[in-house]
Amino acid sequence: MTVCPKCKKEITYLVAHSTVIETYCFSVQENGDVDWEHEDSSPCDNNDDDFCCPECNEPLFYSQEQAKDFLLNSANLEKVS
Ligand SMILES: [Zn+2]
Repeated sequence: MTVCPKCKKEITYLVAHSTVIETYCFSVQENGDVDWEHEDSSPCDNNDDDFCCPECNEPLFYSQEQAKDFLLNSANLEKVS
């Protein structure tokens, strides 16, 4: 099982926050209403994603590789024991 190093509770996944850039077509209609038409979402490539414990919300990792290793290694340990 996977245990959060901060709160010691069992977790099966991490909550990831990722920065994205949202692109809209912004226009104003004849009646004065503004229109935000969603065009696209693109990941903001600044590597500030964080992976948090779903139980205590503490950030545990700041890279996908670390987060993946954490979950993978815990799964492997479970198989061995
Ligand atoms: Zn936790």
